[in-house]
Amino acid sequence: MDFKTLLANWYAQNARILPWRETSDPYRIWVSEVILQQTRVAQGMAYYHRFIATFPSIKHLANAHEDQVLKVWQGLGYYTRARNMHAAAKYVQKELNGEFPKIYEEMLKLKGVGEYSAGAIASFAFKQPVPAIDGNVYRIIARVFGVFDSPYTAPGKAAFRKVVIELMNSSAPDEFNQALIDFGALQCVPRSPDCTICPFNGYCYAYSNNIIDALPTKAKKIKTRDRYFTYLLIRFGDYTFISKRNAKDIWMSLYEFPLIETEKPLAAEKLQENDEWKKLFTSSDPTITYISPTIKHLLSHQVIMAQFIVVIINKDTKDLTGRFSKVLTSSIDSYTIPTLIDNFLAAEPAVRYFLNPPKP
Ligand code: SF4
Repeated sequence: MDFKTLLANWYAQNARILPWRETSDPYRIWVSEVILQQTRVAQGMAYYHRFIATFPSIKHLANAHEDQVLKVWQGLGYYTRARNMHAAAKYVQKELNGEFPKIYEEMLKLKGVGEYSAGAIASFAFKQPVPAIDGNVYRIIARVFGVFDSPYTAPGKAAFRKVVIELMNSSAPDEFNQALIDFGALQCVPRSPDCTICPFNGYCYAYSNNIIDALPTKAKKIKTRDRYFTYLLIRFGDYTFISKRNAKDIWMSLYEFPLIETEKPLAAEKLQENDEWKKLFTSSDPTITYISPTIKHLLSHQVIMAQFIVVIINKDTKDLTGRFSKVLTSSIDSYTIPTLIDNFLAAEPAVRYFLNPPKP
């Protein structure tokens, strides 16, 4: 039996039942694909339902305020993807009369839509015979056919694409692509797949040569950058201070507390000597009530070493009001904040020292 028949047989027995497979609405498929780029199906499901309930159509998404989109996205990370989706929805609404493109090449023109997403939407929604190659597909093709090209380089990607196009079942491209994705997620998993029950074990290159762990070829290790953040959670009666991150940096458009970023860890006893600290408190007399331990937060290319400092001021906020928004501390939850801050606020010390301090 050839590859596509074996795959189709396996899929007939093992296909996952997923809400975005029950629809041919390209908008819903697009949303699911973007969410699944950064999370597993089990975790992504709740986000998908929440997103679709809040923005049931591309028109709803296009008309939403960016803050609302980011709020619904909160916790998924990679906020650029949410911003790109929002921008693409506005483009479709304004330039394409609200009609999602039907052709793969046209989908690629949408902000944030790459070859994988366009392939998935075009094949699932419109049955266009184009591949949708994600990490699962690279793994299967590399192992079964002994493809040693790197999936992380343009020539390597092209080599994989050629193989998939040759294998593809053009009469059912949606099922072919979904089957490959499910096969990679359920059977040919990254570590220790159970090859004894695999329908391809009769001719799988990696299995017969005992090199499953060596394929696909690994990416070169990415150099990460260490950053040191000190967040100041300033209490002024029932209020605190936040600002929106605007710089072209991580967490763009998300809200955060006043931040002191330093080249090296900022020791608590050196805080008052820091220039930024001095600027923030020239006319008030801050009292530090809590200093968190250092929290390590990993991003794809950066390691953030963060500490949170709760500070009370009782008078004069003029150093702060020009640069920050003064908001009710109890309203923090309504702003989209990075997961690092969200996690901290969910922890017990923040409740005690900042969000709900004992009355004097
Ligand atoms: S035999 Fe093993 S390595 Fe090869 S495709 Fe099947 S599960 Fe993957």
